[in-house]
Amino acid sequence: MTALLRLDAVAKIYPGQRGLFHKSPDVRAVDGVSLVVEAGRTLGVVGESGCGKSTLGRLALGLERPSEGRVEFDGAAMPPPGSDAWRRLRARMQLVFQDPLGALDRRLTIARQIEEPLVIHGIGDAAARRARVAQLLIDVGLGENLAARHPHALSGGQRQRAVLARALATDPALLVCDEPVSALDVSIQAQVVNMLIDLQKARGIAMMFISHDLKVVRQVSDTVAVMYLGRIVEQGEADQVLAAPQHPYTRALVSAVPTPGRTARERIVLVGDPPNPAARPSGCAFHPRCPVAIAACAVETPILRAMPDGRSVACHLAQPNMDLAA
Ligand code: SF4
Repeated sequence: MTALLRLDAVAKIYPGQRGLFHKSPDVRAVDGVSLVVEAGRTLGVVGESGCGKSTLGRLALGLERPSEGRVEFDGAAMPPPGSDAWRRLRARMQLVFQDPLGALDRRLTIARQIEEPLVIHGIGDAAARRARVAQLLIDVGLGENLAARHPHALSGGQRQRAVLARALATDPALLVCDEPVSALDVSIQAQVVNMLIDLQKARGIAMMFISHDLKVVRQVSDTVAVMYLGRIVEQGEADQVLAAPQHPYTRALVSAVPTPGRTARERIVLVGDPPNPAARPSGCAFHPRCPVAIAACAVETPILRAMPDGRSVACHLAQPNMDLAA
């Protein structure tokens, strides 16, 4: 498989605010993240809100410049945001947001908005663009009769389908989907997720699927990266990581997913909220909430280590075949 997107030791640091007498600490929203999204495959990125996964998505698309490290798309360094080279590249990388109403312009018809990226990137003449819009509407399960409507005249699910049609208009090689179904009703979520999987497979698109919903991530992803406070704590094939998680944080997330046959007592309840990224705990940042922490965890930072089964885990206790719950 070919790496379409590669992040190498990428960090995003937001400088602290300077006050009259002191400066607040810098915030490392993303901290030393390395990952690969292969052509035609889906990487799921999971973690609680505030763990840096949306910033990671913006770095992946070149919407933000990394403070450290390197982002590569299709074998070349990501051009600076806003440059001509980056604008040309945007036709090949698209973003799907959580809030379809916010992503659409309320004053323009759905057809006009799906056509917009084609106009921006100079793709096709007016007739070709009309035909492309009509086909995209069919591809995402919207009738052509909806083409002349405005966003407020569509349901939430129809709006997200329209956003997806617009994202697909330029035939992108990479889609970054940031919580794309979390604002939808559960019944509609399943329809949109199934459609997304079908379209992705049919078109061979690579996808970074960012979500806090492990159930959806498992359905969509080939590989998965679990983030905690800006860093990846476990990474590997989705089936492997989510079926038999090794990191205590991943175990807690997986245990919270409602599963037939799993009792409430088997759920690992994490104490407290994720810490403030500006006040990162010493050692392993997860140690104040970790149910199996040892003394070393408060002082020594675990590095992401490759395990024999192919995954990587950042935990002092992670060893081949070790059961962290024991
Ligand atoms: Fe828990 Fe220690 Fe592993 Fe961190 S390094 S996840 S605190 S056991």
